[in-house]
Amino acid sequence: MRDCFVAWSFVARILSALTVLVASAGSSFAADRASAFMAAFHSITANEAKDHVAVLSNDTLEGREGGSRGGHAAAKYLVEYLKQAKLKPGGDNNTYFQAFAPNHRNILGILPGSDEKLRHEYVLIGAHYDHVGYGNARNSYGPWGYIHNGADDNASGTSGLLEVIDAFAKLPQAPRRTVLFALWDAEEKGLLGSQHWVDHPTLALDQAHMTINMDMIGRLRDDRIEVHGTRTSTGLRDFVTVQNADVGVRIFYTWEMKANSDHYTFFQKQMPTLLLHTGLHDDYHRPSDDAEKLNYPGIERVARLAFLLTHALAEEPQSRRFREASRQETPAAQEAFETTQAPTPIRLGVDWDERQAQSRIVVARVRPGTPAADADIRKGDQITHFNSEPLANPADLAELLQIASEPVVLTIDRPGEELALLKTVQLKGRPSRWGMTWREDDAEPYSVTVVRVLAGSASDKGGLKVGDRILRIGGRDIQVGENLIAFMAGLPQKIEVIVDREGREQRLTLRSKMPPVQAE
Ligand SMILES: [Zn+2]
Repeated sequence: MRDCFVAWSFVARILSALTVLVASAGSSFAADRASAFMAAFHSITANEAKDHVAVLSNDTLEGREGGSRGGHAAAKYLVEYLKQAKLKPGGDNNTYFQAFAPNHRNILGILPGSDEKLRHEYVLIGAHYDHVGYGNARNSYGPWGYIHNGADDNASGTSGLLEVIDAFAKLPQAPRRTVLFALWDAEEKGLLGSQHWVDHPTLALDQAHMTINMDMIGRLRDDRIEVHGTRTSTGLRDFVTVQNADVGVRIFYTWEMKANSDHYTFFQKQMPTLLLHTGLHDDYHRPSDDAEKLNYPGIERVARLAFLLTHALAEEPQSRRFREASRQETPAAQEAFETTQAPTPIRLGVDWDERQAQSRIVVARVRPGTPAADADIRKGDQITHFNSEPLANPADLAELLQIASEPVVLTIDRPGEELALLKTVQLKGRPSRWGMTWREDDAEPYSVTVVRVLAGSASDKGGLKVGDRILRIGGRDIQVGENLIAFMAGLPQKIEVIVDREGREQRLTLRSKMPPVQAE
């Protein structure tokens, strides 16, 4: 099982989802499949999403309150669409509806999986289609009594889901696992639709491979989306980043899981889940959440990502499990995990005169109790050489300090002294070849998280940042549990690093002045 995952992860990492299909297109049959997949992907468009939103957020639907006539009118439009896409009815009595009291209706459609062994498992992708009608003190920030069209919340996610359905309908062959498409009712009344479904599941809950929720995907700003839930199954963040290669949005991965939309229902049932979301805004739950304020090319991109994710999840070889630890993983835990640990010992202990830092290294302050103080380095001293190597500027010295083993000799020009002084300094702490500290993450076995980058180090100069996930270093994929410290000590002085930063892979080059260390 594990080997299988390694191979898949490796292939998926170097090739994006689309190129995997194209590259594997050896026969003409496979080539046809690959081009059909591309066509399906490109069939998700901003214009079509806009048409759906125009219908769903029209005043005639009166804000689509669950159970209202506007809500029922919206449902009619959606069911027509599922029919046209030839989805199998997934509701009661061979209809698309799953009704619940007093007069609400979930809408469910099924694309049966193509693999005999895997089709009993399913990927559930959903969006709520209801909103708050005319608004009241409980569900709106006002003003109340006006139609709340809910264009972003959640005509956007609904239209994105219709586009995803359309793309699946265009595929010549369904993916291996079944896909269940769900349009939830009465989300705004307390996640009632998704709750009703888990209480009366139409497919066995324990066969859910993954659940995906799209809520408010219509306000993409600065290319940035939020993805919640990647902690709920192992390797999920890495997986999302790989699928994002063909979309290229910036992804803010957050550990926050709140009862603010339907994914939370699944989270509580210990089902792996993801939420795609483009963030809150001033029109949230107000009558001003209207269609003209949406970013339609943004919906296209989020829906395309949702399509790639759903398809890849439905195809992947191994079955997913819920990661129990995710229940304890809060945003505070995320911050503690991703940010710098306790400081390293101060190696030298001087601050530079910043005004002269371009050309000279002049000491502005010596910190008490540090190696510099012990070596009698003083304010006003100019440091010219490091182990008799001439120094250009403080950055130069900082880099040498990171990699030096103690003791070192500094050459100093001191005002009032005719001759240069040689000061032997016993540096504190250990040398660091690359100047970074990383942390392993049991949720992500194929990356490590950078938690510290030392100023002036090879990692700093190469552009590595705290929070980056290292996927590949020195020609090798990361695999948690291997001795990465020894591996990095033996790497050549110039290496390539591939990191996941905001859901996008970046290639960095690091150069260390310290030669490789032989393994003991
Ligand atoms: Zn919503």
